[in-house]
Amino acid sequence: MRVKFWGTRGSVPTPGPRTARFGGNTACVEVAADDGTRLVIDCGTGARELGAALSAEASRPLHLHLLIGHTHWDHIQGFPFFAPAYDPTCTLDIYSPPGLEGTLEGSLSGQMQYTYFPVRLTDLRARLEFHELGEGAFYAGGVHIQTQYLNHTAPALGYRLTVGGVTVVYASDHEPFWWPGTRYRSTGLLPHPGDQRHLAFLEGADVLIHDAQFLDREYPARRGWGHSPVEYVTEMAVRAGVRQLVLFHHDPAHDDRLIASITRAASRRIAAQGSSMEVIAAAEGLELRLPEQPVTAFMLQRGAEQPCCDTPYSARLLVAGGTADDLTALREALAPDGHRLLPLPPGLGVVAAVARLRPALVLLVAGGKLHDPLHAAAELRASAVGAKLPIVVVLRDDGPVRVAELLAEATDIVTQPYSAPMLRSRVRAWLARCGVRRRAARASTGRRHSEQRLPAIFADLPPRERAALLRDATTCQLQPGDVLCREGEPPTGVYYIREGAVQVVAHAPDGQEMLLATLPAGSMVGELAVLDQEPRTATLVAATRTVVDFVPGEAFLAGLQRSPRACLRLLRVLASRLRATDRRVGALTSGDLAERVARQLLRAVTSDGAEQPTAAALAAAVGVDLPQLERTLMLLEAGGFVRTDGQCVRVADLDGLLRFVLE
Ligand SMILES: [Zn+2]
Ligand SMILES: [Zn+2]
Repeated sequence: MRVKFWGTRGSVPTPGPRTARFGGNTACVEVAADDGTRLVIDCGTGARELGAALSAEASRPLHLHLLIGHTHWDHIQGFPFFAPAYDPTCTLDIYSPPGLEGTLEGSLSGQMQYTYFPVRLTDLRARLEFHELGEGAFYAGGVHIQTQYLNHTAPALGYRLTVGGVTVVYASDHEPFWWPGTRYRSTGLLPHPGDQRHLAFLEGADVLIHDAQFLDREYPARRGWGHSPVEYVTEMAVRAGVRQLVLFHHDPAHDDRLIASITRAASRRIAAQGSSMEVIAAAEGLELRLPEQPVTAFMLQRGAEQPCCDTPYSARLLVAGGTADDLTALREALAPDGHRLLPLPPGLGVVAAVARLRPALVLLVAGGKLHDPLHAAAELRASAVGAKLPIVVVLRDDGPVRVAELLAEATDIVTQPYSAPMLRSRVRAWLARCGVRRRAARASTGRRHSEQRLPAIFADLPPRERAALLRDATTCQLQPGDVLCREGEPPTGVYYIREGAVQVVAHAPDGQEMLLATLPAGSMVGELAVLDQEPRTATLVAATRTVVDFVPGEAFLAGLQRSPRACLRLLRVLASRLRATDRRVGALTSGDLAERVARQLLRAVTSDGAEQPTAAALAAAVGVDLPQLERTLMLLEAGGFVRTDGQCVRVADLDGLLRFVLE
């Protein structure tokens, strides 16, 4: 196996003479296995040079596995400059946990909107396959990969790669789960279950590439930023029996001299402990060669499935203790995932409340009415309802509490002031580990079944008929980029869009993705497939933070049977849509109209001093209404001839448009 470093810096590129030795490009590591499997871990700015090197290689076609730890900028900002992404013979399998605000694909395409970059993700010519990951194990080519959540300000995964008896662990952007100062190290204690899991993940690695952004003396002021002090890293690596430690994700404020001295000090510390572990600092261009053992047929058996991402949303979380301010702060931190935070009902103990409310996770906040979180945690653990429940204890400070005892009962401890995105990531990880699935429970928006933004078929219906149409409804909160359903899937039900907006996307016969419509709040979608039982004709994607009610198909049909008025309204909706479709088919089949628009456009852009025509001006000149013109433009746009840019219509391919008119 060969491991090469192309980007080693954390947070932001830091070029210049003071960082020339260890490098200024952000995170990017290449791993090549002897069997030809090629992996790239993270896509910071170092990916540009790597991409150029890969493109210069003669061997084709290229198949790369891109393992993204998380979608913070310093780990994806090199992707738009990664040459293989533009190579039509290249296949890129891209893996990552989804970010806090959307999907992996959404995060990558977000930084490639025209505001930031001239090429869109959908214009890339390589074949891109996106894989959203949770914790688990899978194979990329011949390399076995294990994943585990790190402790960071976003859901971030560490990767443990094994092939031919060689193991490399990549754990970038991670900080200790527990930090009662530096003294605890001498005690040999490692009380926090999160740190224990982390240690097990590093166990026996031949090479450990680990976040080492800070020093012990810098860390207290930067706690909650999601990065490790070097001293914690060396301690963990020695304990885990790592052979070679590579300090990574260098702080932008650390120059070459400081990094060299940090590394020497780390070596001395390790030697003083009697360990033979080698420690080096990652440097751009550094290459490690790790001899693989011959792979036997037995080892090649592929058992593990790809761990699907099971990011849980909309769980019920019980909050016991703390003040009203604590509850508000927790709500603000966790509500973006759609979680519903339930305060402890008056007069009920924690165990009784869990039995009644059945939360997916319990937050015990020290203070307020909860004087002893240890007692509450122990009681809950001893009960049937709380034995396996994730318990997160929120402490005022790291002060003299019985931490080891507390951690024996609780799942996680966080200290105030906590970092909200870090707490959110940790709660996601614990829920996922406990099998709480995405959209498992109903989200409460506090306005469930309110009428204001319900679709037109609900207008003025008597309450009983309205309720019938909402029977079995599940309210889901969606982040931008979340997919409601995909093109080709069998029909499952109807969506009422209450808040936000949903994009309707379909694939043209040539594979091109087309945005058919953006449906605002108050729209209904999915009823056609429920009525005719045909597969979905389009993919539905949340365009912003969106709240939808999902009603299963059978319940929707039963609701219609209860309400002739709703049936009539639905017929009206369908009739107007049918009419619009007729007009659209008419416009598309009359090549005549497309040709007229094309001629008018050519006339406009080739005449002297002419400006880009607006869609309205073009419609007036051709003598059609605006929707009709827009449908025609879609046809021309699909052919790559024109591009609509706000109100303006631009010619994207003048030669092509000329040929279109002449032929
Ligand atoms: Zn980073
Ligand atoms: Zn990060």
